[in-house]
Amino acid sequence: MNYSVKNKTGQEQSDILVLIHKFMPYASSQLDYDKPVRVELLSDPNNAANPLGKTAFYNPETFTISVYTDNRHVKDVLRSISHELIHHVQNCRGDFDKIGPFGENYIQTNPHLRKMEAEAYLLGNGFLVRFFEEHMRNQPLQESEKKETKKPKEEKTGNIGVDYNRKRKQIVADELMKRWVKK
Ligand SMILES: [Zn+2]
Repeated sequence: MNYSVKNKTGQEQSDILVLIHKFMPYASSQLDYDKPVRVELLSDPNNAANPLGKTAFYNPETFTISVYTDNRHVKDVLRSISHELIHHVQNCRGDFDKIGPFGENYIQTNPHLRKMEAEAYLLGNGFLVRFFEEHMRNQPLQESEKKETKKPKEEKTGNIGVDYNRKRKQIVADELMKRWVKK
């Protein structure tokens, strides 16, 4: 699936940009989403000065992942992008159509949103970045261009939710196998 990246920080961001151009094609091969996604890098010194400031957010109307990069480790920024990308998957799946009220403490008061958030943490911050690291170990950064790799069109069955769920379960199962069963 196509993606675009915009550096709106006004700063040099080649480290994270190179990584994003490796990560997005990989993520696209692991997840099912049927709409292009945008990534934008932001800088906000006031936000950065706040220890509990924002790190990233996803706009379900424009399919845009916005991520703050100030004073952050590149891998941490990547985890944020990965987290928001799961929200994009959820959006393509229709999860945002039934989100209900965004109260102040919506994570505590809205079970549907809490579930979406749990998935974004487990898959986005967790497994997806972890598997990407393993993937990259066999494929050094320097070798490839800052270009999205073309891959053959995946077979569409028309039901993204089911496909995605199956794939997700497979990812979790694979990880558990590796960690506990093969020993
Ligand atoms: Zn989230």
